[in-house]
Amino acid sequence: MHYFIHENIKQIRQHAGKSNLVVVSKYRSIQELEKVYETNQRDFAENRVQELLKKKEMMPSDIRWHMIGHLQTNKVKLIAPFIHLIQSVDSLKLLREINKQGKIYNRVIPILFQIHIAQEEDKYGLSEEELRKLIQSTEIESLKNITVKGLMGMATNTHIESHIEAEFLKLSDLYNEYKDQLHWEILSMGMSGDFHIAIKCGSNLIRVGSKIFNSPQ
Ligand SMILES: *Cc1c(COP(=O)(O)O)cnc(C)c1O
Repeated sequence: MHYFIHENIKQIRQHAGKSNLVVVSKYRSIQELEKVYETNQRDFAENRVQELLKKKEMMPSDIRWHMIGHLQTNKVKLIAPFIHLIQSVDSLKLLREINKQGKIYNRVIPILFQIHIAQEEDKYGLSEEELRKLIQSTEIESLKNITVKGLMGMATNTHIESHIEAEFLKLSDLYNEYKDQLHWEILSMGMSGDFHIAIKCGSNLIRVGSKIFNSPQ
């Protein structure tokens, strides 16, 4: 069962080149995740804390788990002991809580700021202006139990490639503006439908789900 998963991953890795692949395993069964794991894939992402915890329980312990969904402050403590990268940080309040839990578990927790680049209203994330304010605030330097690794964003769900490209380029410019000064390393953009565009625009981490788990047409 699910043998096409191996082939799908191989093709995506070929496309991705030097960009890192994080497999988005939300809504997928343990059997499907195991097929992915067989290909030596170790970076997996979930968008809900409960499901992430459940899957972590059932999967090998060398998986690096990424959180990519909206994170409520009261749930941070559940993932703080082990999470590899929280990609969806969109407020100072959340950042403070991650720092607090990092301190409790004696960890420096890696995070990305999620930036709102799409036209859809419902997508989470900071505006460019909010990011600039956050970066310039003195408080952020005092948070010793978090480390900011870069930015994450999602483009508008559209077939107009030039539109997607413009949004990714905007995020890429923002990333490049700060990356040397702030020692950023990760620009997370691109999903199943648009990772080929994201890579052209400078993404070095793509988050792919359906294109791996859906059987090819
Ligand atoms: C679901 C999800 C993805 C993967 O989407 P696919 O289109 O299935 O590849 C990537 N990033 C985020 C933030 C997601 O929620």
